[in-house]
Amino acid sequence: MPARYLTPLCNRRRFVAASAAASVVASTALRGKDLQAKQPQEQAANQSDPKKRVAVTIDDGPASGAGDDLDAYLRISGSLRKTFVEHQVPGIVFVNERQLHVDGQRDARIRELEQWLVDGLDIGNHTYAHKRMREVPAWEYRDDIVKGETVLRPLLEKHGKRLTWFRYPFLDSGRDAKAAEIEEFLRERDYRIAPVTVDYKDYSFARNYTRFLRAGESAQAEEVLDSVWKALDRAFEHSEQRSQNLLGYQLSQVLLIHCNEMNALTLGDAFQRIRDLGYEFVSLEEAMLDAAYATPGLPPGSMGGWVMDGLTSVRS
Ligand SMILES: [Zn+2]
Repeated sequence: MPARYLTPLCNRRRFVAASAAASVVASTALRGKDLQAKQPQEQAANQSDPKKRVAVTIDDGPASGAGDDLDAYLRISGSLRKTFVEHQVPGIVFVNERQLHVDGQRDARIRELEQWLVDGLDIGNHTYAHKRMREVPAWEYRDDIVKGETVLRPLLEKHGKRLTWFRYPFLDSGRDAKAAEIEEFLRERDYRIAPVTVDYKDYSFARNYTRFLRAGESAQAEEVLDSVWKALDRAFEHSEQRSQNLLGYQLSQVLLIHCNEMNALTLGDAFQRIRDLGYEFVSLEEAMLDAAYATPGLPPGSMGGWVMDGLTSVRS
């Protein structure tokens, strides 16, 4: 098994009871062999299409679900961050600053977040408290954007970078005058809006996966993980087909995943699987150089949600 799998598996060993962990590790090793067995066929597919690119964006950062547990926060964020580095994937984490403000822990939490920058990764604003745009007044949403950058902006500047990217919570970017108003507000504050084109809904599996691991039910956890990989394959296939039908080529895709415990334990496998699908990992900036993202006349809210829907409405 490649060395890059060892870190998440070591974390997983700490996470579960020793006996359950041993079983999970063994079955994960088998899954690794399955992946390798598929490679020759998939590599042939890669050669016929060498230009598939994807940017990985990870939301609800840096550690969703950790609550006020500092150890869990450090473990989840640290493991995700190290997996990006080990797999040489140029990721961006979209942060809810609310996670940083736990009494007595602010310094440690901000220091861990800063490590993402030290490691060469990027950070974007995902609002302070993850509100749904359509459920709050525009002033309250604008306020949550500003509140979500009070730590991020100086932190990025300290490392010679600028706070550039914004991701709408729930991809709820609207379609009306309020959507246009928020987009204008983001422009005024020098934000670029991060779209999404691939989403295998990792969050919908995460809770079951960790629940089974905690209960020592490793076989069930592995079943959940098999469903995750099937969903991943389907999501990429869907986006590729949609891109080909609409644009006639493979759009530089933008993947959405989340900073949860499941990914902290398994993200290395996800990266390998995406590589096996023929993808090269690129930064969000690089993906956004694709001309489709600069299509004029996109309706308000298009860029912040399912941008392919906006592109479809312009081109049809
Ligand atoms: Zn989110």
